[in-house]
Amino acid sequence: QNNILFIKSFMILLLSCLTIRLDLCFSSVPSSLRALPLDGHFSFDGIEFASKDFGNRYNLPPLAVLHPNSTSDIATTIRHVWQMGPGSELTVAARGHGHSLQGQSQARNGIVINMKSLGGGQKMQVHRGRFPYVDVSAGELWINILQECLKFGLAPRSWTDYLHLTVGGTLSNAGISGQAFRHGPQISNVQQLEVITGRGKVVTCSQEKNADLFHSVLGGLGQFGIITRARISLEPAPNMVKWIRLLYSDFSTFSRDQERLISSERTFDYIEGQVIINRTNLINDWKLSFKLQDPVEAQNFKSDGKTLFCLELTKNFSPENTDAANEEIESLLSQLSYIPSTLFISEVSYVEFLDRVHRSELTLRSKGLWDVPHPWLNLLIPCSKIHAFAEGVFGHIARETSNGPVLIYPVNKSKFDNRTSFVSPEEDIFYLVAFLSQATPSSSGANGLENILARNRRILDFCEAEQLGVKQYLPHYTTQEQWRSHFGARWDVFMQRKSAYDPLAILAPGQQIFQKTI
Ligand code: FAD
Repeated sequence: QNNILFIKSFMILLLSCLTIRLDLCFSSVPSSLRALPLDGHFSFDGIEFASKDFGNRYNLPPLAVLHPNSTSDIATTIRHVWQMGPGSELTVAARGHGHSLQGQSQARNGIVINMKSLGGGQKMQVHRGRFPYVDVSAGELWINILQECLKFGLAPRSWTDYLHLTVGGTLSNAGISGQAFRHGPQISNVQQLEVITGRGKVVTCSQEKNADLFHSVLGGLGQFGIITRARISLEPAPNMVKWIRLLYSDFSTFSRDQERLISSERTFDYIEGQVIINRTNLINDWKLSFKLQDPVEAQNFKSDGKTLFCLELTKNFSPENTDAANEEIESLLSQLSYIPSTLFISEVSYVEFLDRVHRSELTLRSKGLWDVPHPWLNLLIPCSKIHAFAEGVFGHIARETSNGPVLIYPVNKSKFDNRTSFVSPEEDIFYLVAFLSQATPSSSGANGLENILARNRRILDFCEAEQLGVKQYLPHYTTQEQWRSHFGARWDVFMQRKSAYDPLAILAPGQQIFQKTI
């Protein structure tokens, strides 16, 4: 009995020592951070913004927010955390514009780096010449890069649908939009990066120099380093675009036309698509910003109760070559099999087209519908399985309503560099299908959060049961087993890269891939 008593007392003592050690460790952290020699500063109060994101579902309060004013501020901070060793729980998350969906840019009790304050301190530099590029801070918003480059008649080649996202945030995923079929995603249009690894080392990397780190970080979900600067390829900026929408009622015809367009040399400059589920007043709504080629016939067209497929295209042009552009468009459209009365065309400036989602943002904000939960689901589907997917999902699971856009378009895998950390299906063409849902707050109806999450679950279960070989884009998993299966054959390389560049698992804990051990 004495022995048991002794063991019990010993265990209690051990536990109290451990708790005191952890307490000491945490209570001394703010003062040790305050003591770091920085150009910028740490905030410990008023930092609620760093525990929120666009998804509006995860809330992980950090210990501190770093507002860096230089690359060395970030390096100094990470080196400090690295030197605390595996005994400290402290982690670090870069926060771009916080437009993640499930807490990926958050760090519970850790340090969040407000990357946008780095953008303010360092100027963009546009380089003209035969192969133009721009050097930017990774905290810069793409909209600002566009505005700056346009002053030189230049623009990046590959975009996301929404430009109020940071360079570091989209390069950590991929950055996919309607230009990717031709130019590849944004991660295929970067020439050089400056990265701070999980050991606090500042490294310049490119295809030629420190290539493994360069490829690791692109699509690397923030796991291998913090991108501080990026060199982005540019092209002569288009002046105007013809923006075209066409409707289909048959999925096979729609996808055949999409695939043909992304596979030809002579084609449009941007190719996307949408699934339109049971939408009333579609024709009248679009008539506000598009010109209908056949307004009389179109009035007889009814969208209610139907699932339609909209092909969305653009052609760049300058006012002086409008006729040539019109001829080219007419010739390209003549090869497509859309419903003839549903041809919508609009003419807008390049900026107006690229920044189109921001206009919707302003409208939604004015109605209080922007800061709502966004249970998004983004999938990458092999081309050979897209019909099975469409039949199961648009034919059965998601027939009633979509409560947000549903995007669907194919891209060419050859434009994605398979040395990066980004994973996609192993076929020459794969589709991006994005359910961009917004939940009606405190509703238990079809548009309520729980119902949308249940629908997403049913879609994922269907893909798994039918073995469609689907990958998530902007992936979210909660166990390492699921991550292992997401990366498949690439998991071993992902692990090796983690142990080379962030062996203590300090970076981007919100992705829930690795856990810092103490
Ligand atoms: P954050 O959410 O702040 O960060 C994302 C992840 O990257 C986090 O893990 C973070 O720690 C890490 N990170 C951030 N900055 C850095 C850095 N400098 N270095 C290393 N890691 C970093 N995506 C597309 O591909 N195509 C689209 O068309 C598209 N449209 C969108 C439209 C809207 C309205 C929204 C909200 C999102 C859209 N996205 C799209 C998704 C978007 O690309 C990602 O959510 C992206 O992460 C958002 O960028 P951010 O700057 O807000 O990054």
